[in-house]
Amino acid sequence: MSIPLLDLKAQYLSIKEEMDQAVLAVLDSSKFIFGPEMKTFEEEMAAYCGTKHAVAVGNGTDALVIALKACGIGPGDEVITSPFTFFASAESIALVGATPVFVDVEPHTLNMDAAKLEEKITPRTKGIIPVHVFGQMADMDLILALAQKYDLKVIEDAAQAIGAEYQGRKAGSLGDAGTFSFFPTKNLGGYGDGGMIVTNDDALAEEVRMLRFHGCKTKYYHDQIGYNSRLDELQAAILRVKFRYIDQWNNARAEKAALYHQLLAPLADAHRIILPHTDAEKKHVFHLYVLRTAQREKLMAALKSKGVANAIYYPVPLHLQNALAYLGYQAGDFPIAEEACQQALAIPCYPELTSGQQEEIAAILFEVLG
Ligand SMILES: *Cc1c(COP(=O)(O)O)cnc(C)c1O
Repeated sequence: MSIPLLDLKAQYLSIKEEMDQAVLAVLDSSKFIFGPEMKTFEEEMAAYCGTKHAVAVGNGTDALVIALKACGIGPGDEVITSPFTFFASAESIALVGATPVFVDVEPHTLNMDAAKLEEKITPRTKGIIPVHVFGQMADMDLILALAQKYDLKVIEDAAQAIGAEYQGRKAGSLGDAGTFSFFPTKNLGGYGDGGMIVTNDDALAEEVRMLRFHGCKTKYYHDQIGYNSRLDELQAAILRVKFRYIDQWNNARAEKAALYHQLLAPLADAHRIILPHTDAEKKHVFHLYVLRTAQREKLMAALKSKGVANAIYYPVPLHLQNALAYLGYQAGDFPIAEEACQQALAIPCYPELTSGQQEEIAAILFEVLG
């Protein structure tokens, strides 16, 4: 048996005809940068997210950097985010010259713990980046209420959460801006890099558009120092084909997660594992299916020996990363994030996974942990 963590080849084969046509059409048009595919994809994303604007950029990290910059965040400012996420969530804050400040996560969702947020707010705090980790949205009501109280910008890092919902509203549409990544392994992944910023704020959208293209509105007239960060036509065309399937694929992921939940319930009841928790008012799109176990090493070895791919998300919390040592955090500062890093393990959960394969995977878990 050999089961990958994600099967991009199978996905490509399921849409090969449409995909090949779309790619060849771009080659035929020979328009590669700033063309109609990107523009249409922006319109489609805005409509999907329920925002006034969507602005495509080169990748999800640039989306965060440009959104922060457009919000006027820079040196001397603090931005609060989660320590349990991909590095870019905090790296982007440092890249604009601001200081990342961490707050521990909730034990059940592993998202930023909004109840602990207020104590991290100082006179220098300018923004919050909630990360919708693994495809489930953070507790946006509390976060937005605090942002309003202290006049802070909220940038949702929705890189893992396209299509996720909070009380019926789409990820990315609740904050001042929302950012997405189209890295190949994301729920909507290109065949290269890509990113998007969505917002309802006209002025912010204009600023973001300017920043992604060398700080200029009119070609060769530069009002600001900006970036060269845009989505090329090939990626836009590829993403537009996949975008037609995003709800179907997200729903398929949620179905796989539900089956795991059912299959693995006895292990959870016996406290051998903690299953991913879904809050009632949220739609989880299961970018990753991450369970937690105190016997991770043993489980990883058994899965590996049976050819089942698995991966640790995340091995090191951001406050303990070497690159952020200058912030002065210590082990023990965020115990819930730290424990999650010791115990979390992602097992295969993607649209093409079969229930037979899930049963085989569950059987390995019972063998090791039962
Ligand atoms: C993938 C990811 C990013 C960065 O996106 P890139 O397109 O790889 O730059 C940022 N934040 C989170 C939470 C991610 O998972």
